[in-house]
Amino acid sequence: MTLEDIRALIRTVPDFPKTGIQFRDISTLLAHGPGLAATIDHLCERAEALGPSAIAGIEARGFLFGAAMAARLGLGFILLRKPGKLPVPTIGHDYALEYGTARLELDPTLVDDGRDVLIVDDLLATGGTALAGAHLLRQAGARVDHAMFVVDLPDLGGARALEGADIRPQSLVAFD
Ligand code: 5GP
Repeated sequence: MTLEDIRALIRTVPDFPKTGIQFRDISTLLAHGPGLAATIDHLCERAEALGPSAIAGIEARGFLFGAAMAARLGLGFILLRKPGKLPVPTIGHDYALEYGTARLELDPTLVDDGRDVLIVDDLLATGGTALAGAHLLRQAGARVDHAMFVVDLPDLGGARALEGADIRPQSLVAFD
């Protein structure tokens, strides 16, 4: 299955969660067996070329792709969670979203110093979420040089924002 086939399985929902926003909904891709398998194949092929020592996924949709990749590659998977979910002391980072504000939290004891962590999420918009994740992982002692997404919305400038923080982003498909 080609990247164009994968792109065609992503549904666009107008005016969600606000009027004027075109939400790119990956539910339809997840529900399609061959589409999901091909998505994980493409992500893993790229991740293998980078050779990370762990994968960190961003709650919630980054967990789906990141954990599947980690299991396939035999790597550990680190949770970047929404606030108040972890039962242990955390470090946290507040950030601005395309719509609203948010916070990510991490259990820093899961990160070994110098571990080379690949960030995974479903979609890159402004880059604020992935940058918050990178900030936390770096604060915990990780090296974060790469981030991987299924979808990029290039008009929102996320790739530039990540490159400004020395993180090279890769995405399978893009929507204007
Ligand atoms: P950013 O922080 O890059 O502006 O926004 C990316 C985050 O918001 C990701 O965690 C992603 O799941 C979510 N997000 C923003 N817009 C969309 C969208 O159109 N579709 C999906 N699936 N997620 C989105």
